[in-house]
Amino acid sequence: MSVYVIAPPAIAALQIKGSTQTFPVRRIFCVGRNYAEHAIEMGSDPTREPPFYFAKPADALVVNDADMPYPPASKSLHHEMELVVAIGTGGADIAVADALKHVWGYCCGLDMTRRDLQNEAKKTGRPWDMGKGFDHSAPMGALVPAAGIDPSKGLIELRVNGKVTQTSDLSKLIWSVPEVISNLSHLVRLAPGDLIMTGTPEGVAAVQRGDVLEGIVEGVGSVRTRIV
Ligand code: MN
Repeated sequence: MSVYVIAPPAIAALQIKGSTQTFPVRRIFCVGRNYAEHAIEMGSDPTREPPFYFAKPADALVVNDADMPYPPASKSLHHEMELVVAIGTGGADIAVADALKHVWGYCCGLDMTRRDLQNEAKKTGRPWDMGKGFDHSAPMGALVPAAGIDPSKGLIELRVNGKVTQTSDLSKLIWSVPEVISNLSHLVRLAPGDLIMTGTPEGVAAVQRGDVLEGIVEGVGSVRTRIV
């Protein structure tokens, strides 16, 4: 039996709607450019290129409608409103037809992005980690069990200070939720506790200290944070 030399890190966890139990989070995978109109606004070709991924550390989570501190080293903090999939049953090489059986539930999430650092990384061919995986970069709302939720359609919307900035529909995902789970499971063995942020629609924009962000996905729930 081993004894840790420092206190072990806390396990990041999502709230579950209507429950005092929580969902422990293992990894946070994110899909890049998964709505055509967002790919176009970012200067990319929206044709159906294979999905690609980046990640955030689990402890980037911000839950319980908590405030999000404006991050250091950036003058361009962007919001990206997304549907988040929580994996309950792991697996590798999952077939598209079986993929939804691996889902524990869904929630709303914000893939907060230091766009200036990400753009610099793109230009220089460097990793996106510091643009995407910084502290407090993943505000998420309460998780809802998957039963009865159809992730193939439904309004996805973000308001900043009450004004709609992003509005789209899950039916516009280039790669559907089952396709993303299947594809990702051919790259890594998915495990219980993994989250997948499925990509953002068009309308991403910079936020400032004091802004209140409120996102919804129809049939799933909401996410809320204030930038401080
Ligand atoms: Mn994103």
